[in-house]
Amino acid sequence: MAGALQETSRLLKEHLRLAGLPDDGQLWAVAQSPLGGRGLVASRDIAPGELVFYDVPLVLGPRAGAHCPPVCAGCLQGFEALLPCSRGCGLPVCSSQCESVPLHRFECQKLSSWGVRTNGSWSRELLRASTPVRCLALSPTKRQVLQCLQRHGGSQHAFEVDILKQKTEKGPSTEEEAFMRLACCVMDANAFETAQIPLVKAVRTEEGTTPSLRGLYPLASMMNHACTPNTRHGYDERQRMAVRAAMHIPAGTEITNSYTSLLWGTTARRYQLAVTKHFLCACSRCSDPQEGGSRLAALRCLTPSCQGSMFPTEPLDDESMWECELCGCQATGRKAAITQDVTTQKLELKERLCREVLQLLETLRAGQCRLRGLLLYELHCVLMELRARRGRDSSDATVQDLGREALACVQEAAEILAGDITAPVDIELRLSTCRRDVTTA
Ligand SMILES: [Zn+2]
Ligand SMILES: [Zn+2]
Ligand SMILES: [Zn+2]
Ligand SMILES: [Zn+2]
Repeated sequence: MAGALQETSRLLKEHLRLAGLPDDGQLWAVAQSPLGGRGLVASRDIAPGELVFYDVPLVLGPRAGAHCPPVCAGCLQGFEALLPCSRGCGLPVCSSQCESVPLHRFECQKLSSWGVRTNGSWSRELLRASTPVRCLALSPTKRQVLQCLQRHGGSQHAFEVDILKQKTEKGPSTEEEAFMRLACCVMDANAFETAQIPLVKAVRTEEGTTPSLRGLYPLASMMNHACTPNTRHGYDERQRMAVRAAMHIPAGTEITNSYTSLLWGTTARRYQLAVTKHFLCACSRCSDPQEGGSRLAALRCLTPSCQGSMFPTEPLDDESMWECELCGCQATGRKAAITQDVTTQKLELKERLCREVLQLLETLRAGQCRLRGLLLYELHCVLMELRARRGRDSSDATVQDLGREALACVQEAAEILAGDITAPVDIELRLSTCRRDVTTA
């Protein structure tokens, strides 16, 4: 086992070296994980906000989902109108320049040599299946990196290869097919959905969603899942991923990442993880009926006169009974969930919602997570609006307080979201405007 960990570590460092990323002062080590299998541990104390590592994609390409908006095979942007590549590969491009970008050249030649059956047009199916073709371009070392990653088995993975065989005359060789199937299983287990590069010419497509890509980030994929992770990650315009500490990470602690939503209740999180990642999470948050005191999954008690909330008695068991904390009445999870009256839910003001969710994140000890950054930004916007409506009379104490809090919010938000291309576009502008307004008021 120690030998295998060393070999994995060597391959990951080689991957970073090939990408030109320095590994001096390395903050992570590959180690046996108490969460199961391998993981990354902190090799020294890491401060909140500190960069743990950068990673670059070994492979980057279109996502395989049937409803993923199409992208240009050259620049990977979404466009209203895409044209078939004139070299006859059956993939869409946005312009003739994009036909000859290196990212597309390899798959273009490969697909053409297999003889695509698309009658001169481009195929959405072929585009969905194109990322594994890109994996065939990997050098022997990069193939080794891919092969050292964990993978999912089962025939539902690698359906992309079946599409490729249906859509081409000759199809891949036996050896190519085997490697692409393996690559699909590795990507299904490890790929990240990356942010799309926000260009002015890129548009929202008919589905109303912005195109996104899948990227295989070998080092980042070593992080195990925790429902309250100690890192956050973001992408820059070159699709490089930065992983930062969301809280203090003591030396020797496992470095974790969440594969699901921080604000979903345990049942929803565990279900999603089971379906998409094939494991049943048993982290400390999942094992606690009240999720660290956040009471996120609480359901109102079914007894009409009772003001209590119901929680699962065995949170790690899907069939668990739910029990009221006050009157002790019990019901199945299904019964408790369907009797909740959703029509009486009142609308919350944006400010209150922001504060509540921020409070919740604190209770979850989520640290300086990305969501905190986004919420602080939203709260800042609300406070500035309130301040504007009350007038800028600097002698009014509440107006002064609003301004001071708005500034503190946007300062921290900008700090958390620094270098993240998916951050609100006007955050820096708001920071400088607010700083000037509040300090001169
Ligand atoms: Zn393009
Ligand atoms: Zn082409
Ligand atoms: Zn969990
Ligand atoms: Zn009750």
